Parts: sequence; C-alpha cells; structure tokens
Amino acid sequence: MELEVESALRIAIMDWVRQRAEANGGFLHRQELLSFRIDGRDLPIIDFSRGIRNPAGFSSTLSIVSTANGPYDDAESEDGLLHYAYRKGDPWTGDNRKLRAAMETGQPLILFRKEVPNFYTPVMPVYVVDDYPEERSFIIALDEAFRFMGDVRRLEEPQREYAVRLAKQRLHQPAFRTRVLLAYATRCAVCTLRHGSLLDAAHIVPDGEPLGTPTTPNGLALCKIHHAAYDQNMLGISPDYRVAINRDLLEEVDGPMLKHGLQEMHGRALTLPRHRTDYPDRDRLAWRWERFVR
Ligand SMILES: [Zn+2]
Repeated sequence: MELEVESALRIAIMDWVRQRAEANGGFLHRQELLSFRIDGRDLPIIDFSRGIRNPAGFSSTLSIVSTANGPYDDAESEDGLLHYAYRKGDPWTGDNRKLRAAMETGQPLILFRKEVPNFYTPVMPVYVVDDYPEERSFIIALDEAFRFMGDVRRLEEPQREYAVRLAKQRLHQPAFRTRVLLAYATRCAVCTLRHGSLLDAAHIVPDGEPLGTPTTPNGLALCKIHHAAYDQNMLGISPDYRVAINRDLLEEVDGPMLKHGLQEMHGRALTLPRHRTDYPDRDRLAWRWERFVR
C-alpha cells in the first residue's frame, strides 16, 4: 500500500474512533473496535490477543494497548512518556519492525488504555519517538515535538514538565472519565441522564488537593449542567448521598431548566455505582459538603 493511501486510511480510522468515543462518553467497547469495516472490508482496529495491531499492508503500527492496573500504568514513567516494551521475539522483525517504522516515518498511532475489561479509552495521536534496544523498549509520546528533542531520557526541566502536563490532560483525565462513567453505568448520579457524550467525571475533592486523586471513589458521573452546578456550589451532595440545591437558587423563579433541571433535584437520592468499591468516598463527600453549606 502506498504511504499516502495508508495515511489517509489512518486519518479516517482515527476520525471514526474519535466520533464513537465521543458518543459513548470517551471510550469504545472491544466489539466496536473488532468489527470496524471500511471500504467494504473488515479492518479490526485492535488485536485483542496481542495488544498491538499491525494490519497487513500497513507499513507501520496502527494501535497499541496499554493495560492500566491502577490510576497510573506502570509503563508510564514519571517523565510523562510511555515506555513500551518490545514485543516478544526478534527485535528487528514483525511487530517491533513496524513500531520502528512508525518512529522513522513519524506516522501517528492510537494508544488504547484498557481501564475496565472490554473497554478502551483512545489516546491519539501518539508517536513513537525513540528506541532503546538496550532496554528493549520504545518511547511513546503524546506530542510529535518529542521526536525532535534528542535523547528523551535526558529532557530539560521545561520539556519534562510539559510531558507530565500532557500525560495528565490527555491520558489520565480521559482514563478517569472512563472508569467513573462505567462505574455509574453511564448515567448522571443526580438526574440519571444516559447520554455518554453529555456526561463528565467530576472530582469530589478537586485535583491539586491532597485527597484529589483521579480514582473512582473521588469521582461522580455528572451531566454537564450538574457538573457545572456542583463546581459552582449551586448543587451539593451530602455524605449520606443526598442531593441539595443552594437556598438562593431554590427561591429563584425562571424557566424549565431551573425548575426541572435543578430545583426538583433537591432532596433526591444519589444514583450510586453498581459496585460498592466504586461508591463515592464519604470522607471526601464530607470535605466537599462542608464547602457547599458554608
Ligand atoms: Zn444530571
């Protein structure tokens, strides 16, 4: 396949992945990725058993999967880059050759974070920026600029900070959203709205505070309006899982969004996740509730 044709195909695949993920709430189901078709032929976007997808006819890798066991994958180093181990076997042929080709041609690829069994959070485009045969690993970055920064193991402080910031925005926040939305079965915890594209993962204790971790017990699946209201302290959630609306807002008179969307939520029981381990942490809710009642 000519490189131009391959590049166009890659862009079309990425557009489709982006659209599907946005519609779902930031993630795709395994089956959607495996049953993808384009121009009348099957072209699975992931390789379920191998974690690296090198379609026949493609000169370089299309996608890789990284499995997250905690809030941070152990393959991610503190420098904000991903250290992706060589695939089994000969470092110079097969999968490893196609990853190296991606590095040489600068072709973008898709990184799928596997957060929850069968669900994948796409992060793209990502780039293979370096190759360390002595460590048997490739370095994957979230910005093409890292291709031109020399030895990425010895980044200057500003570049390192940039990589860490990028990882947080493009890797950890989307992964947090996937975990939280799936824990809540893709429903707003306040109003039960079921459209993934209209749902966010809200932090109970904000990012930056000691307890503000990107973990499910510090998250709530909220629709956009309830997320904004929560962040503005117009809406509170008590440690016993009750929704409350700010007193001033309760007395206001306005249209149907205020009436049905906010005032009528006052006193409602929170819709909780399926599993108890995913429940919002009561101590964190109390921390936040204190700021709401104040
Ligand atoms: Zn809602």
